[in-house]
Amino acid sequence: MYMAKKISNTGKVVNKVMPGQIPEEFINDLRHRVDIVAVIGEFVPLKKQGRNYTGICPFHGEKTPSFVVSPDKQIFHCFGCGKGGNVFSFLIEKDAMSFPEAVEHLAKRAGIALPNIAVSPEKDKRDSLMKRYFDINEKTAKYYEQLLYDSSGKEALRYLQGRGLKTDVLEKFQLGYAPAGWDMLTNYLRGEDITEQELLTIGLAVKSKKGTLIDRFRNRVMYPITNETGKIIGFGGRVLDNSQPKYLNSPDTPLFSKGKQLYGLHLSKGSVREQDRVIIMEGYMDVITAWQNGLTNVVGTMGTALTPEHVRLLMRYTYNTFICFDADNAGQKATLRGLDTLQEQGCNISVVSIPDSKDPDDFIRKEGRARFTEIVERAHNLLEYKLIKLMEQFNTQTVSGRIQVVQELIPDILKTKSPIARQACIQMVGERLSFPETAIHAEIRKAVSYQEAPKENSKTVRFLSAQEKAQRILIKLTLEYPELIGEVEENGGKELFKIALLKEIYQNHYVIRQSGHNIKANDLITLLGDSASQKVLAEILLENELPEDWKRIYKDCLVLLRLELLQQQINHKNNMMLDMEKQGEATKVLQLMASIQQLVKEKHSLATALRKGGNLY
Ligand SMILES: [Zn+2]
Repeated sequence: MYMAKKISNTGKVVNKVMPGQIPEEFINDLRHRVDIVAVIGEFVPLKKQGRNYTGICPFHGEKTPSFVVSPDKQIFHCFGCGKGGNVFSFLIEKDAMSFPEAVEHLAKRAGIALPNIAVSPEKDKRDSLMKRYFDINEKTAKYYEQLLYDSSGKEALRYLQGRGLKTDVLEKFQLGYAPAGWDMLTNYLRGEDITEQELLTIGLAVKSKKGTLIDRFRNRVMYPITNETGKIIGFGGRVLDNSQPKYLNSPDTPLFSKGKQLYGLHLSKGSVREQDRVIIMEGYMDVITAWQNGLTNVVGTMGTALTPEHVRLLMRYTYNTFICFDADNAGQKATLRGLDTLQEQGCNISVVSIPDSKDPDDFIRKEGRARFTEIVERAHNLLEYKLIKLMEQFNTQTVSGRIQVVQELIPDILKTKSPIARQACIQMVGERLSFPETAIHAEIRKAVSYQEAPKENSKTVRFLSAQEKAQRILIKLTLEYPELIGEVEENGGKELFKIALLKEIYQNHYVIRQSGHNIKANDLITLLGDSASQKVLAEILLENELPEDWKRIYKDCLVLLRLELLQQQINHKNNMMLDMEKQGEATKVLQLMASIQQLVKEKHSLATALRKGGNLY
């Protein structure tokens, strides 16, 4: 059975059983059959460069490629943001998959059947319960849909057709009609052997004052809500008259929770990935009307503000988001709240402003697809959008009003990391507010002197000390030439590694080797439990190719680290000797002195050797 081996700090290998244990041979076989370049290539355009492939990193915004994929080592690493790992880690990070899901995905891709996986009885029970709920929703949607084209749904159908929707789109979104009676659906489903408890649990019925069950949705146009895979998890219903509430959604149920799903995503996801952008709207009708007009990369938040769950869901498909909420006040507030969420998660945000306070549904119906595409292309980036909103808020006729706007914007300007992009921001703000750029720079300097200036490019320009370089090279070398481990151990083994993450990586490798496993760099990445060490290892493996004379470099590294270790031991023993002197322990002092002399002698001869030929690259 496959066990994810989590290696504890003490270096002992402990086993954690994966959910739905997958045989280890299967994982190994799969890894050999899958090509990381092909898998990542589906998400990121890759260009061959020497032995590796490079591309624009899918994890952080960048213009020049610092994302490297190695077909030899079957790993990836980004020199910009530091993300890295193997094909499994990539899918887990990029597509928000769990480990078993990544295995399943890759097996499907490679055309290998998954082995029979033992499922726990509890999970089995939960799965079959969920399946039953999905089936009930499916039955309900069919019931509603059929009624829409029946005489009772005439008015509902007329409403939808009045909004320009054709039958193929109505069918695509499975629109329907909930009849006007009190318990039509409830009675229909009872006849299908569905219990009252089930109807209450999935929110299709509610208890009346008399204690009997009545339908939750009555005399409404019905919009089934699906999850990403197209299974129906709930419903939204719109009134046909002026009664309230205008829109009624399913309550939170085992299948549905407000703020976690996006309307239309199962239909739009292909198009979103293909076009590498998503247009986020609010309502059901916005999304459906967009589809009717050939705009297929749209989703709806169903009236709520954007949540982190929404954003995570979308980031599986694209990082480029266009917010297109209603122009009314509520819509604008929802927009601003959502934007912070998006930005925190690292999306590229553009805000589409619809002229004349229309909602997207109205605008697309009246002005058409071409005009709508135009306003999407003219969308403002986040900073510009915030600037426009602030200019409405403050009196920009006065200098002090304009200064206030600049001050409000400074945190956002400082968040722009690239110096070129930041300069463009400052220029844009200067032009809009008719301020010279120097004045804006001065305001920024003033603000920065209060709070610590953010360290620019602290990641990209990181100078490694010779010691750190040496530790990294030793890790790389011992993975490529495991026969070196013996000598490294003789010289101090893990004690040579002063940087905790590097020590952990070396020690894990050593322990696995000791237990007789022949392990590849790629396997070690999988076995390292935490993503911090996975990233460092991928970085180490991809940074510099080793030169021809790696043996000399290896010696230099070993000597350098050994020298450090010796010095540390000498210091330690010196301190002990001073203590013993104070306590009058003459014999112990002499013993320590002898062993210090030994260490000093070794240190001198090593240092001489290093000076003669030593040259760390
Ligand atoms: Zn990156």
